[in-house]
Amino acid sequence: MVLSAISDFSEARRIVIKIGSALLVRSGKPATEWLGAVVEDMIALRKNGAEIIIVSSGAIALGAARLNLPKGGRASLADAQAAASVGQVALAQLWAHALGQRDLTAAQMLVTLDDLEDRRRYLNAAATLERLLEAGAIPVVNENDSVATAEIRFGDNDRLAARVAQAAGADAVMLLSDVDGLYDRDPSQDSAQLIERVEGVTPEIIAMAGEGSSSGLGSGGMLAKLQAARIAERAGITLAIINGTEEHPITACLKSGRGTVFAPVRADNARKSWLGGRLAPEGVLTVDAGCVEALEGGASLLAAGLIEIEGDFQRGALVSLHGPKGQRLGQGLVEYSSEECRAIVGLKQDDQEAKLGYAPRAAVVHRDHMVSG
Ligand code: GLU
Repeated sequence: MVLSAISDFSEARRIVIKIGSALLVRSGKPATEWLGAVVEDMIALRKNGAEIIIVSSGAIALGAARLNLPKGGRASLADAQAAASVGQVALAQLWAHALGQRDLTAAQMLVTLDDLEDRRRYLNAAATLERLLEAGAIPVVNENDSVATAEIRFGDNDRLAARVAQAAGADAVMLLSDVDGLYDRDPSQDSAQLIERVEGVTPEIIAMAGEGSSSGLGSGGMLAKLQAARIAERAGITLAIINGTEEHPITACLKSGRGTVFAPVRADNARKSWLGGRLAPEGVLTVDAGCVEALEGGASLLAAGLIEIEGDFQRGALVSLHGPKGQRLGQGLVEYSSEECRAIVGLKQDDQEAKLGYAPRAAVVHRDHMVSG
């Protein structure tokens, strides 16, 4: 079934529910009662046949309170890592207890950006999620903040939730937030309107996001939620942002229908959807206008259309593809190292062998290893 409104989420087959720090940790203490009510909401979804995966923040906030660190543990990366180490133990206990009280089994999974960028590790994570669900456990996923450094970090659990949903083949993601959803302007303005449904996260939609999150506890904010929605919409997953602040927030939103739903815009196959959701390109290939047209028609990217290469990368790396005005076209896996790419910029197939010293490959980025957007 296609989930087109929040009320349809009661029919979800496999749903990722993301809970942010501001909801779970209030004044440094776990919101135990609220959490109990959320677990009851989850049980109601399970009774309807849904499998549930939780993506939970809160490690940094809990650890910072325990260690008395300033700025909620976010004053420096070292503080955040130390806070996460301490807080993750508490967070896992919290979930194990809240779920255990209702005879459910929590399964902790800590992942880094790299675990989901690398295809083999991504498939490993997918297999673990599958096995856990099959065995009846509820995976509780968080970023492995104590080892993730700036370059290899998601930094927010919103995008992590979308990536996890993709890896798990989920059909729905619910981001529990401290606002009702996406507003067309700063929600503190009286004239702000809640947007109920988004069909495609366009630059106009991104412009509505404004700055940061209201609580300052988490690192998500609306922009991260929209980035998560982009990952989901391309993987054929429906994502909703709902207000998590009430008691029984999920049941309440299923009833009221309040929130913002992001409809899927396409359903790439599993491999392309992994590729499209990757977040850390190692370089940029800029191509000319003729090549842009060819790519839009579904062709592979050939060296003849290349104008400029940025970055230092090996064959097989993820690169971002840009048009001549710097506009992003998509991303893909490159068939040559950056050095080889630079050697063959603008060259036709026949002229490449002399530069490379071997017969050229069929393309610089093959269309099977490329996604637009
Ligand atoms: N993973 C972080 C934590 O558990 C939170 C990231 C976020 O704020 O989204 O504290």
